[in-house]
Amino acid sequence: MIGRKNREQRTLFIAGDIEQFIPEDHILKRVDRILDLTWLREEVRECYCEDNGRPGIDPEAAVRLMLAGFFHGIVHDRKLMREAQVHLAIRWFAGYSLEDELPDHSSLSRIRQRWGVERFKKIFQRSVKACIEKGLVSGETVHIDATLIRADVSWESITERHAETVVAENEAEEDTGSNNLQARRPGRPRTREGYPKKVSMTDPDATLVTSRGDFHLEPSYKQHTSVDDKAGVIVDVDLTTGEDNEGQRLIETIDRIEDTTGRKLQQVTADASYAHARNYEELERRGIDAIIPPQRERSKEKRIPIRRFKYDGKHQVVKCPGGKILGRTGQRANGWVYSARKSDCEQCRLRERCLPETAHRRVILIVEGYEALLRARRRKLLGWDNDTQRVYGRHRFRVEGTHGEAKTQHGLRQAIRRGLVNVAIQVYLIAAVINWKRLARDGTISYPSSWHSRQVSRLIYCIVSTIQENLNLRMVQFIL
Ligand code: SF4
Repeated sequence: MIGRKNREQRTLFIAGDIEQFIPEDHILKRVDRILDLTWLREEVRECYCEDNGRPGIDPEAAVRLMLAGFFHGIVHDRKLMREAQVHLAIRWFAGYSLEDELPDHSSLSRIRQRWGVERFKKIFQRSVKACIEKGLVSGETVHIDATLIRADVSWESITERHAETVVAENEAEEDTGSNNLQARRPGRPRTREGYPKKVSMTDPDATLVTSRGDFHLEPSYKQHTSVDDKAGVIVDVDLTTGEDNEGQRLIETIDRIEDTTGRKLQQVTADASYAHARNYEELERRGIDAIIPPQRERSKEKRIPIRRFKYDGKHQVVKCPGGKILGRTGQRANGWVYSARKSDCEQCRLRERCLPETAHRRVILIVEGYEALLRARRRKLLGWDNDTQRVYGRHRFRVEGTHGEAKTQHGLRQAIRRGLVNVAIQVYLIAAVINWKRLARDGTISYPSSWHSRQVSRLIYCIVSTIQENLNLRMVQFIL
C-alpha cells in the first residue's frame, strides 16, 4: 500500500540537543570524537587585541567551520555558510545551535589573513602528531609524489612574462619619477628570466605547466605529498609553483619527514621524475632503499649514448667505446665535463656515430651521483625482487589515491584563492582533513579530555531544555 505523509504536521518544539539528529557514523560525528583544537586559542591569542574591539569568532569554531566545508568538498566560504544555515551536522560540529547566528562568510577570509599560513600548517602538523600517537604511522616506508592544482585564474589573464616585466618597469619609473628614456624603452629583456614565457597577471605565483606531454599547459601550483605506507596518513605536504622540479626537493622532504615522525626512513617510493643521480646517491649514503624507476637515457640524433662510455670514478676518467680516455675539462653546477682529445676523435672509426657533423671531439657530462644512478639502472634492468615490486605497487593507491581522494572529495581539484600562501592554507587544511578521516576510521580511539567535558555539558543542556519544553507545554495548556 502506498503510504501518505501528512505534510501539515510540524513539530512545534524540539527537545534536546541537535546531536540526536546526526547519525553516529556521520563523518563529522566520528571526527568530533578525535579532534582536539583546544590548543588553538593560545596559538592565535597574539593575533587579537586583549582589551579592545568586538569579540571575534571563536578560533575553534572558525576552524571547525572550515574543516566541515572541506570534509564535504565545499570549498567556497559563501557556499559553506549557506550550507551551514540548513546543515545540522555542520552547525553541531562548529558548536552553533539552531538559534545561533552564523558568522558572515567574509569573517573566515579575514581569519585566514590574520592568522597566516604558519598556523594552518600547525593544524596539519597536529593531525600528523595525533596519527603518530595512535600508531597509524610506521615512519619506515613513505610514498612521495607531486600533483598539479589548477590555479584560480582565467585564460584572459595569461600574458607573456616580458610584458609583465615592462609593466613592472613602467610602474617603478612612475614611482621614482625617472625620466630615463633608455630605461623606459620596452625592448627585449637581456636576462633569461625575462624571455617570453607565459604568466598570469592575476596570480603570478602560478606557472604554466602540464602533467602530460599530450595535454595543453595550464596555470598551476604543485603539491608535494608524502604518505606513510601503514595507514595512508599524509606525513608531509608542501606547495610550490607549478614549474618547480619535484626531483630537487626529495632530500629536504625526507629530512622533514624524519623530523616529524622521529624515525629513520627505510624505504622511499617515487616515480621517475624523482630519478635524479644525486637523489640515488644521497639515499644510498643514508641507507634508504630508493624504489624509484630510473628514467630512460635520452640519446640525441642516434649518437652513441653516454651509457656506452665506461666511467671510472676512482681515477676520475671515462673510457669511450673507441677505447680512448676522456679527462675532466670543466665543471658545471650538477657535475663534471669530460672531453676526448681532438686527435683521438679525428682518427676514430666510430666518429660518424659518435660526433655531430660540426664537432671535433666528444664532450660528455657526468652528473654527480652517476655511479649510484648506474646501479639503480642495473637493478631495474635485472628486475626488482618481489618485495620491491609489492612496495612500489602500493605507491599508486597510497599517494596517487590520496591525491585523487583530495581532488574528488575534498576540493583540491582547483585552487580557490590566489597566491602561494593562500593556496597553501587550502592544501594544509585538506591534508589535515584526510588525516583526521584516517584517524576516525581507526577502531582504537581514545577521546580527548575536551570531548568528555563537551559530552557532560551536552547532557546538562539536554536535561535543562527538556524541562524547559515541558514547562512551556504546560503553560500553553494552561492558557488554552
Ligand atoms: S669519436 Fe672520439 S669519443 Fe667517440 S668513440 Fe671515437 S675516440 Fe671515442
